[in-house]
Amino acid sequence: MNHHRPDHSGALLSIDLDAICANWRLLKEMLGQADCAAVVKADAYGLDASRVAPALARAGCGHFFVAHLDEAIALRPHLPAAARLYVLHGAPPGVEAEFLAHDLIPVLNCLPQVDAWSRLARTTARALPALLQVDTGMARLGLAASELAAIVADPGRLHGIELRYLMSHLACAEAQDNPSNALQLERFRAALAAFPQISGSFANSSGIFLGRDYHFGLARPGAALYGVAPVAGAANPMRAVIRLQGKVIQTRRIEAGSGVGYGLSWRTAQASRIATVAVGYADGYLRSLSNRGLARVDGIELPLVGKVSMDTITLDVSALPADALQTGSLVDLIDASHGVDAVAERTGTIAYEILTSLGARYARHYIGG
Ligand SMILES: *Cc1c(COP(=O)(O)O)cnc(C)c1O
Repeated sequence: MNHHRPDHSGALLSIDLDAICANWRLLKEMLGQADCAAVVKADAYGLDASRVAPALARAGCGHFFVAHLDEAIALRPHLPAAARLYVLHGAPPGVEAEFLAHDLIPVLNCLPQVDAWSRLARTTARALPALLQVDTGMARLGLAASELAAIVADPGRLHGIELRYLMSHLACAEAQDNPSNALQLERFRAALAAFPQISGSFANSSGIFLGRDYHFGLARPGAALYGVAPVAGAANPMRAVIRLQGKVIQTRRIEAGSGVGYGLSWRTAQASRIATVAVGYADGYLRSLSNRGLARVDGIELPLVGKVSMDTITLDVSALPADALQTGSLVDLIDASHGVDAVAERTGTIAYEILTSLGARYARHYIGG
């Protein structure tokens, strides 16, 4: 999918598959007996599921989650036959049979999905695997407690369904002292009590860090695999995964009091050197980083000045020696010392959005795997 050559493109994006696998192994170790899946929805958070998922499968991961049916159909050929591939949104009505054709397992989120899956099991005379999601307080996906009670009261409703896990999702897991975590845990335990044979799947990345009580049988980390900090306000134990280097395409000297970029939203206090780098909001370098972003060369911080354009940003590079940057020089926009969390914080978003916005025009380079 990536056809951009480093010498033709405005930026290089390095993606360290070995770091992703090391992050998975760290989480797996924390989980002890519980299994560790990998969430690879949204093209593995923008990093290319067809590269990331096979690397994780070789590292020992046997459970994968995507959001949409089409994501699963595209990913299935890249995974070993034994790998389980789950679709978080479940089966859209009328296309349940696609799940059998592609060996996919739906997460059943509502009673109509439960009924349709059971119907398909009866018409095909097969036991069909599924996860069943219950809402324990996030109010996004999954059966309400009353709907779960309706199923428990009428177990025939699950006829033909081979329940692999009872699942739920945490709303505030990255905030360890948020009382809703314990409340959701209590509700999840109550739901599980109705299914004594079935194991649970509860924790996302941050949920794993809430401790053993939250692990159950299968955890579903995504973000932490890709280097995102799992615990708000704490040191990040995950390895950095991406490095984004933008290419300088022009440099200039400007006088004190000059404006820079659209709207001339930046004015120089003194004579300055400006470097124009070929990365813009069309590449997912968010426009909200205007006058806030940061680049680095040899560890020296270079503030982004002016608005982020569609295809370019402008940096004040006065802190560097005059000849340090030429056309073709690379500047670090995201790296281990200024990672996706730091970039997100500068513009009031989360690292997940920085990752999933990473553009299609970068020359991508995959390391290891
Ligand atoms: C996205 C998602 C995950 C992964 O969450 P992270 O915070 O990225 O670890 C797990 N479970 C569900 C239901 C999700 O939607």
